[in-house]
Amino acid sequence: MTAVERRIPVMQPMLGEEEARAAAEAVLSGWVAQGPRVAEFERRFAAAVGAGHGVAVSSCTTGLHLALVLLGVGPGDEVVVPSFSFIATANAVRYCGATPIFADVELTTGNVTVETVDAVRTPRTRAVIAVHQGGVPFDVRALRAAADGWGVALVEDAACAAGSTAYGAPVGAGAAVAAWSFHPRKVITTGEGGMVTVDREEWAVRGRRLREHGMNVSAADRHASAQPVLEAYLETGFNYRMTDIQAAVGLVQLGRLAGLVAQRRDLAARYQALLADVPGAVPVRDPAYGRTNFQSFWVLLTDEFGAGRDEALSTLAAAGVSARRGIMAAHLEPAYAEAHPPALPVTERLTRNSLILPLHHNLTGDDQDRIVGVLRALSSRAPGR
Ligand SMILES: *Cc1c(COP(=O)(O)O)cnc(C)c1O
Repeated sequence: MTAVERRIPVMQPMLGEEEARAAAEAVLSGWVAQGPRVAEFERRFAAAVGAGHGVAVSSCTTGLHLALVLLGVGPGDEVVVPSFSFIATANAVRYCGATPIFADVELTTGNVTVETVDAVRTPRTRAVIAVHQGGVPFDVRALRAAADGWGVALVEDAACAAGSTAYGAPVGAGAAVAAWSFHPRKVITTGEGGMVTVDREEWAVRGRRLREHGMNVSAADRHASAQPVLEAYLETGFNYRMTDIQAAVGLVQLGRLAGLVAQRRDLAARYQALLADVPGAVPVRDPAYGRTNFQSFWVLLTDEFGAGRDEALSTLAAAGVSARRGIMAAHLEPAYAEAHPPALPVTERLTRNSLILPLHHNLTGDDQDRIVGVLRALSSRAPGR
């Protein structure tokens, strides 16, 4: 790496003066906990992703837990999840005392399919968590219909998928329940934060209660009332609240979503064109039925590439490029050593042979040339070339 070459991060949140001002306004308003800004963020986010109702929470992880509680998942139940996901997807099942059952994914999208879920389903299967992995939508039509047919609930892990579409609609449209993340690694951020979107109003009402200790009246509503309000605790809830400071930032970020996704898609198209002459480097693409927001731009290295994934990562790092290993596989982690899943060949191939390239609003065409140049040079060393 020469002195003039700047280090290229894998991801950078797009945060500006507007977010700083919005956060400052929330602080100076004197109401910093969950309040009116959270309520507005819930309305506007749900509308943006085509969902009926939003329930803001502290993270996608707590959102997934809340979703499973809403569905009544508990001890003795099995929940089918992809191993090929951030580990929180599987952990949320364990929080309920239920058992995650790992399904394999398809090579092109990194997502579970009707066939891979059906292969591991049992009479104890209570729910499926399907992930829109890295922003690539799963086949919502096929999986939603299959889950209905099986009589099994479908939770959508849309942590990465704000701004992705399937069959011409945002992925939140038509989802019974979906969980979203606003961690800085995702396309829009509130620092930490998440959202559960639901289609039924009664789930939104209960979800809001569950995230606030099971209280029948929110702290914000009690505060707004001139008369003393005696709250009741209707069931065992949690503190999964988002703050108004986070929601203030989220409202500004939401206004940037369409532009950020358009820019990511342009950069991804340019990566795809550049990689076309790098043998054995297969970039993620839109599936036939939808459009990804390219939250993660991953590249699968095949035998043709001529170098291993870890060698590619270290060569990129030496050139000042922060790439990342591909999406993890939960069943290969010590926390799931006892899980003994059936063979997950596609999951293992993807997780071992893919890497995630930098993609963010500050990435330039020159950066992309530099990054793909490193991969091209590595590939050209392959035997026979
Ligand atoms: C990031 C991520 C999560 C966790 O989101 P948090 O908001 O950090 O809790 C869950 N599932 C998937 C697929 C993710 O990528």
